Amino acid sequence: MKNGTCPKCGSKSVHHEQNGIYIPKMIGGAFVRTDTANMGSNTDDYICVDCGYIERYLDDKDKLKAIAKAWKQAGT
Ligand SMILES: [Zn+2]
Repeated sequence: MKNGTCPKCGSKSVHHEQNGIYIPKMIGGAFVRTDTANMGSNTDDYICVDCGYIERYLDDKDKLKAIAKAWKQAGT
């Protein structure tokens, strides 16, 4: 997705925006539930304008570490 190609439909019509999707709308970034203070984290958002697929990356190293402790690992 970051290379500009949609992994779902193969389209090259991928658009990118820092904090492009707001959750909630009034405050930028995303709120991820962990044990630490729940501050908004910046996100790096990619959307394919052909099929609508959204890919989003948390741009917050401390929050990613907290998630690794607080969330169950997938596939285990
Ligand atoms: Zn697509």
